[in-house]
Amino acid sequence: MKIQNVLSAEPEPHRAGLSVSRMDRYVWENYSDRPDEVRRLAALIRSGQDLPAPDLGIEDVELDGVIAEGGVVMRMHKRRERSPEIRKKALARVRKGNGGELRCEGCGAGAAVAEPRSVEESAFEAHHLRPLADPGERLTSAKDAVLLSATCHRMIHSLARVEGEWLPLRGFRKRIGKSEA
Ligand SMILES: [Zn+2]
Ligand SMILES: [Zn+2]
Repeated sequence: MKIQNVLSAEPEPHRAGLSVSRMDRYVWENYSDRPDEVRRLAALIRSGQDLPAPDLGIEDVELDGVIAEGGVVMRMHKRRERSPEIRKKALARVRKGNGGELRCEGCGAGAAVAEPRSVEESAFEAHHLRPLADPGERLTSAKDAVLLSATCHRMIHSLARVEGEWLPLRGFRKRIGKSEA
């Protein structure tokens, strides 16, 4: 379906009636004659590597899943993390393990406001421990996602970017001086 959309961005559409988003058009214009580059990017995405982020000047374009060389993987990662299901699981798991309270699994901090729960929860984000799973793969375990304070979530991503390596939770805790379990 996605490919049909992109195909529709061709100046003389094969198939009328399919919607063409700004991104579809971008993809067509920039990649339709670069199959090798597309193959290279696809392999990178599959391997889950972080990509260098060249300045394409399209930072604000809302991406429909994939595209734009810089940050493809990161965008997919973040999209996955926004999944309400993943977030809910992580929140529930941490609550259960802390007598009903939420704690960051990085720094251990709780939220400044504990009531109501929706406000407490707003201080936390789910972080996916694997940079990228297969798109079709479903999460089987709540442990695939950890619950981090918004600050720790930023830090773990910044570290991954700077060090070019995805940090496991233990490695991250070490970096912030919380080495014990
Ligand atoms: Zn934290
Ligand atoms: Zn994350």
